[in-house]
Amino acid sequence: MRAIPGTEEIIECDALILSVGLIPENEIAETLEVQIDPRTKGPRCDATLMTTVPGIFSCGNALHVNDLVDYVSESGETAGKNAAHFALGKERTLVEIKPNENILYIVPQVLDIKEKNDEVVVYFRSKEVFDKATFRIIADNKIVFEKKYAFLRPPEMEKIVADFSKFNLREYSTITAEVEVDAK
Ligand SMILES: Cc1cc2nc3c(=O)[nH]c(=O)nc-3n(C[C@H](O)[C@H](O)[C@H](O)COP(=O)(O)OP(=O)(O)OC[C@H]3O[C@@H](n4cnc5c(N)ncnc54)[C@H](O)[C@@H]3O)c2cc1C
Repeated sequence: MRAIPGTEEIIECDALILSVGLIPENEIAETLEVQIDPRTKGPRCDATLMTTVPGIFSCGNALHVNDLVDYVSESGETAGKNAAHFALGKERTLVEIKPNENILYIVPQVLDIKEKNDEVVVYFRSKEVFDKATFRIIADNKIVFEKKYAFLRPPEMEKIVADFSKFNLREYSTITAEVEVDAK
């Protein structure tokens, strides 16, 4: 994206269409002092889509940039349902999901281990274009979820559903997410 001096040229045209990256709109989240993930540029959330500020939930493009509106509706439903549940009163114990260097971002970034966590919807994007790669979530050295991909591309958001309920997670547990490029 750096112009090479001397190569600029002017092209006459009637219209110009720009295809540029989007970032979440987070003015409101920032005024509420919600922690922002530098990877997604949206709030850090657990699987209930609650941010780092108890009682504040995030969804849709404010959470991370979704490519399809169906994911936006889905996350709106999740956040709404969990906000109603939270209003009844509960405490959280959060464990971070640490992405490896091949992952651009992952949502949720933390897991509330007091939740059931049997159907955790996870969104991620790879950092680069990878042919033949494996996405894996590991909790305390055990594989929670694994899927092979023919390719992964950063513009395409991936969605998986992971079941953490059998892994007896504790506040000191380690959860990592990795994209491993398969040997050719
Ligand atoms: C060019 C383009 C093409 C797309 N094409 C498709 C497609 O073909 N199919 C598909 O499934 N998806 C498509 N998408 C993606 C889809 O449009 C988005 O994922 C979806 O609209 C996001 O919904 P949202 O409700 O989270 O955010 P938005 O639709 O952005 O809605 C947020 C609303 O909040 C308002 N707002 C912001 N700040 C404030 C504030 N402080 N106070 C009050 N209101 C505020 C905004 O004005 C806006 O109306 C496309 C997106 C773009 C940009």
